[in-house]
Amino acid sequence: MTHVVIVGSGFAGCTAIRKLRKAGFAGQITLVSPRPEFFYFPSLIWVPCGCRTEQDLRIDLTAFLERQRVAHHAARATGLRPADNVLLTDRGEIVYDWLLVASGGRYLRKLPGIEHAHIVCEGWETVKRFSDRLHGLESGHLAFGFASNPKEPAAMRGGPIFEFLFGVDTLLRKQGRRDHFQITFFSPAPKPGARLGEKAVQRLLGRMNKLGIETHLGHRLKRFEPDRVVTEGGEVPADLIAFIPGMTGPDFAAESGLPLSEGGFFQADETCRSPGAKNVYIAGDAGSFPGPEWRPKQAHMADLQAETAVRNMLAAMQGRPAEHRFKTELICIIDSVDSGVLVYRDPRRNFQLPGKPFHWAKVFYEKAYLRQYANP
Ligand SMILES: Cc1cc2nc3c(=O)[nH]c(=O)nc-3n(C[C@H](O)[C@H](O)[C@H](O)COP(=O)(O)OP(=O)(O)OC[C@H]3O[C@@H](n4cnc5c(N)ncnc54)[C@H](O)[C@@H]3O)c2cc1C
Repeated sequence: MTHVVIVGSGFAGCTAIRKLRKAGFAGQITLVSPRPEFFYFPSLIWVPCGCRTEQDLRIDLTAFLERQRVAHHAARATGLRPADNVLLTDRGEIVYDWLLVASGGRYLRKLPGIEHAHIVCEGWETVKRFSDRLHGLESGHLAFGFASNPKEPAAMRGGPIFEFLFGVDTLLRKQGRRDHFQITFFSPAPKPGARLGEKAVQRLLGRMNKLGIETHLGHRLKRFEPDRVVTEGGEVPADLIAFIPGMTGPDFAAESGLPLSEGGFFQADETCRSPGAKNVYIAGDAGSFPGPEWRPKQAHMADLQAETAVRNMLAAMQGRPAEHRFKTELICIIDSVDSGVLVYRDPRRNFQLPGKPFHWAKVFYEKAYLRQYANP
């Protein structure tokens, strides 16, 4: 029986499972990830306002995997022997016929003093710590910022830091204590959020100005200290720092024998194949894909890439040419707890639509998305 092995139970991995079974794939599927769970990262932004609990975001996949006839191998991938079709894990080796690497990315921790910043994209624990600190402060300086991977500028996560920033501003206003805090937004980029489009940058900076949020832009970051962010252009006072560093590939990439990008991601082509490797596909944040300079690292792209990888994998299994390509499309709602801005970009169009309904659209999308994996 043909054996497909998928590494990672995030957006790309779980979408690949659904698409494989939907297309009628009847072979064996093994999912390799530390736990049989799916984590819904986009709603981490609603943890500081108390609108989401850990239970809301951590979805047990046991029933989903049973429904989809998928065996779960609870382990971390540690390497690969591509010539032998063998995936190495910390709980043994797995032989595959076809492999999909969908293990997400990691955040760079190279800046000195990074332990003083809360890397609010990493997961529940960090965001909860950030939230608890915020609620414990009576007054002070808050700093929010992000950076990219200098070796691969597209490897960044910008959108969520704006959501944390505007969400915290809204929360403090609702609590009647916004004037006890000075908030600064920092980034080495002179135009933060440029990938969302020129107008989006103007809108974001205009909004910060209106809300009394200061900016410190265009200066390389030097280090974090317990009470400040130090850049080549000066210092930002900070009793609490939320920071999203640039991204790099998964920890086992270097041990995989697969081609890697400058920034340490699995190199993939426009059909989601790992070039030169036999029967290996890549999807989601783990990969470096061709595309315009604004190409996003997003759940939406992870889903599109997983679908493309599956279609090409199935075509190749049947000896047909693997010629499906994914569309590069940036679509997100930058939420501020009580309102939102829809941002859309593809090679032809780029627009934004602000409004309260977009907050509710984001909530609705979350519910609909998670229903696919929920226990009946
Ligand atoms: C705060 C925040 C807000 C966001 N908002 C949005 C949004 O509004 N819209 C949007 O489209 N995107 C958003 N994103 C981005 C989105 O969450 C990611 O792009 C998406 O999670 C990538 O999916 P993935 O499947 O590639 O990786 P992940 O979802 O990170 O999943 C990776 C999986 O691989 C597993 N894994 C990791 N290492 C190993 C290993 N060595 N062996 C085995 N398994 C491994 C992990 O446990 C996990 O199951 C947001 C992200 C954050 C953090």
